[in-house]
Amino acid sequence: MAQSRYLAGLDAEQRTKLEQKLLARQTGRCFICDDPIDLMLHKGQLDIDHIDPLIEDGLDAENNFAFDARVVQPEQGGSES
Ligand SMILES: [Zn+2]
Repeated sequence: MAQSRYLAGLDAEQRTKLEQKLLARQTGRCFICDDPIDLMLHKGQLDIDHIDPLIEDGLDAENNFAFDARVVQPEQGGSES
């Protein structure tokens, strides 16, 4: 992902507020996989991406951000692949 100057300029509190705002806009779901996001449970696995990539002239601004969780699903024992 391209570097966001906007995100780099946020302090921890501003970042948290932004995450909560994005999450509310996405009705609590991951932008990529549509799974429910839990801010506490998924701490450290969450990321903010640009909806329109910066390299494609996407804006580095709040309304071009999407919140997603890189949740690692536990292996389910079975071997379906
Ligand atoms: Zn996801």
